[in-house]
Amino acid sequence: MRRKIVILLGHPGAGKGTQARAIMHRLDIPQISTGDMLREAVARKTSYGREAKARMDAGELVSDSVVNGIVAERILRDDCEKGFILDGYPRTVQQAETFRKLINNGDQLFVIDIAANSPGLTTRLTGRLICPGCGEIYNTFSRAPSVEGVCDVCGWSLFQRSDDRENLVQERFRTYKEETHPLVQYYNQLGVYHQVDGMRPIEEVTKQILSIIDGVDQKKTLIPVTAEESKPFA
Ligand code: AMP
Repeated sequence: MRRKIVILLGHPGAGKGTQARAIMHRLDIPQISTGDMLREAVARKTSYGREAKARMDAGELVSDSVVNGIVAERILRDDCEKGFILDGYPRTVQQAETFRKLINNGDQLFVIDIAANSPGLTTRLTGRLICPGCGEIYNTFSRAPSVEGVCDVCGWSLFQRSDDRENLVQERFRTYKEETHPLVQYYNQLGVYHQVDGMRPIEEVTKQILSIIDGVDQKKTLIPVTAEESKPFA
């Protein structure tokens, strides 16, 4: 089956998770967040969870081999048959190269960069509160829950991510700039790159993303998957 693959790129705090959650029901494909999967592995103290924890606590990236492995395994599940939304992966050119080998001929690829500038992003991250029950995302500065510390949707106690502290946020921005930003050029060259304005209200950004996915010429969503096939695209 031809899959719809959406890659959400963007600075930490740009709204990748929020937008992935907003579009997944509309597209009827799951959100795959490598950050969530890693945090779960850390909480379960699995072998790679222990390795990941030190890197995550330092605002650095977890090794490509670990992340590539968890994504390769995850996308084989039945719920990914029609496609999936990648939130936070790939984050390095090496990951993008590995992922490219997992794309089948005819799969449609949409790379959507949620562009946002860093001054506003710091408060988005340091004020962020997450519900461990349903995944709803709040912000103490701009979208506080009705009852402090409690999820409006399911009533669970909200938590703050340990890497959303100010000193780590700056380190995560630096990591993004050095390791993830080169993906803009990588996907631009493949002709599947799109940008939306991530500083607009959440609903507007969602609309922009969906209009790209609905409106883009199908031919412009296909990328060469092998070296031989890349020739006609060169
Ligand atoms: P996120 O929830 O996407 O902000 O990710 C939280 C942390 O998990 C990041 O700061 C990294 O340490 C790690 N992480 C998530 N996705 C990746 C990835 N694709 N490659 C390497 N590390 C990742």
